[in-house]
Amino acid sequence: MTRAMYMSKLYAPTLKEDPADAELASHRLLLRAGMIRKEAAGLYSYLPLAWRSIRKIENIVRDEMDAAGAQELMMPIMVDAELWRESGRIDAYGKELVRFDDRHGREFVLGPTHEETVTALVRNELRSYKQLPVNLYHIQDKFRDEFRPRFGLMRGREFIMKDAYSFSATQESLQEEYDKMKQAYANICERCYIKALPVVADSGEIGGDTSVEYMALADAGEASLVYCDDCGFAADDEAASTKVVVTEGPGDGTLTKVETPGMGTIEAVAKFFGFPENGTRKSLALIDAEGKPVVAIVPGDHELNDCKAEHVFGKGYRMMTDEELQANGLHKGFIGPVNLPDGIRLVCDESLLDSKQWACGANEVDYHFTGACPERDFTVDEWADLVTVVAGDPCPHCGKPLSAARGIEVSQVFQLGTKYSEAMGATFMDEDGKEKPLIMGCYGVGVSRSLAAVVEQHNDEHGIVWPVSVAPYEVAVIPLDPKKEECATVCEQIVDGLCAEGIEVVVDDRDERPGFKFADNDLMGFPYQVVLGKRGLKNGTVELKDRATGEREDVAIDEVVAKVAELVKAARR
Ligand code: ATP
Ligand code: MG
Repeated sequence: MTRAMYMSKLYAPTLKEDPADAELASHRLLLRAGMIRKEAAGLYSYLPLAWRSIRKIENIVRDEMDAAGAQELMMPIMVDAELWRESGRIDAYGKELVRFDDRHGREFVLGPTHEETVTALVRNELRSYKQLPVNLYHIQDKFRDEFRPRFGLMRGREFIMKDAYSFSATQESLQEEYDKMKQAYANICERCYIKALPVVADSGEIGGDTSVEYMALADAGEASLVYCDDCGFAADDEAASTKVVVTEGPGDGTLTKVETPGMGTIEAVAKFFGFPENGTRKSLALIDAEGKPVVAIVPGDHELNDCKAEHVFGKGYRMMTDEELQANGLHKGFIGPVNLPDGIRLVCDESLLDSKQWACGANEVDYHFTGACPERDFTVDEWADLVTVVAGDPCPHCGKPLSAARGIEVSQVFQLGTKYSEAMGATFMDEDGKEKPLIMGCYGVGVSRSLAAVVEQHNDEHGIVWPVSVAPYEVAVIPLDPKKEECATVCEQIVDGLCAEGIEVVVDDRDERPGFKFADNDLMGFPYQVVLGKRGLKNGTVELKDRATGEREDVAIDEVVAKVAELVKAARR
């Protein structure tokens, strides 16, 4: 039996207009639907509707954590800064860390994450391998003084996180805890109706992953990803690596100089030869981190990846200025590997290794070469992985074409190892009688960010479209004439019936025009609406609307409770 909420009493101040400077759908809609209010930059109050959804997400997280054998506890938000000195993070963490003195002059921090606290908590008590593994978690407000808090709940300064920490005696045991958390996180996303990809953030020495980020797919996401629909591979496009497919350039295999007046772009050259951009070679003149000149060559339709370039050319490498081009005898738009002036290092993308017929600049204004062949016509100093992987490139695992998407990091699992236990002296007595540092893992879910991610994935031009499992209420009952006795009686009958079925109901009993109520309920996005109109009531029916599909159907008054209960129960996860 649940208790219905009446909208005449509900504190959900909806807005008619889009709030200024809310760029993201989730930010805009949560404000408009009267679910959150900004208190200061990156600080939000969760109003009653949002708080119900937050609690549902928390409960899904809790259920999955408990099922995976983790134990919930609660640690203080305020953390003795001395612990952060022990771990060495007090300065390393930077200005995101909120620090302050208590009245006695002792320094504290507001926990942005709790590795130090939890390590200090267990170090005197987890003393034997027999007590391990242990996995402890809490769901709590975190503080990070983000440089640019923005996008509403997406990047706040105070936000809700579930953070878990596992302690193991062996690497195998850590791996088991880590794998359980990965499964739990996949389940959490599924149960919250968040479509997410597990992206390998870090690979270990033996090839397995040691950190995975769960990325909710959304155009507004900060991360750009490539993924394979076929085998499930996913990676940050900065980190992804694959063998880009290249086509040979035009020509008959002999080195031929061709006049290309004014054609200083890949687009113009490809058009001139009537070839795809992929069949041309893009040459970039750089100054490496040591100040030496380099020419880097990539397939014409791919970009030099900044991250990878940093690995090869050093942090601080850059494009040549016009003066440097001139000083090195290079001509913008006509740079290439053949006849490269002395003293310039030539680095080419690995994808070009087997290509024998390049269309490329001739190092002479208004000329290109076709049929240029590495080792015959020029010498490559180094082959390296240089390009940003894009949609259409082959999956490095199965070879099928990759897709591209943007993502929001909603959670992360991480094998910490002994970083904190060694620094903070958290050791245990192993089976062999030796004292060893605890082997740790940490696992975070952004609870408030997950709420934003759900809205980002589930909305339309009318408002939020809540999935049942995280909706503030599952059904809105909307009597259009709440003051009329007949309407009020049927309304009460339906509401009582739904409550008896355990369905969460909100009743729009407000004395407002139908158009206003429809718009408001669509904005707030309850999954099902039961509309009690005059005409229907005369015929003994009400209208049932599915918010997601917009489909409406007339249902007999005495059947609607069973019908709605069935739909809702099937969609709960
Ligand atoms: P980001 O790269 O987005 O700053 P992070 O790597 O700093 O995230 P973690 O330290 O791994 O994040 O924290 C665990 C989870 O907490 C993240 O996956 C994310 O969902 C959430 N989170 C982190 N920072 C914020 C924030 N400023 N506001 C809301 N949620 C956050
Ligand atoms: Mg961060």
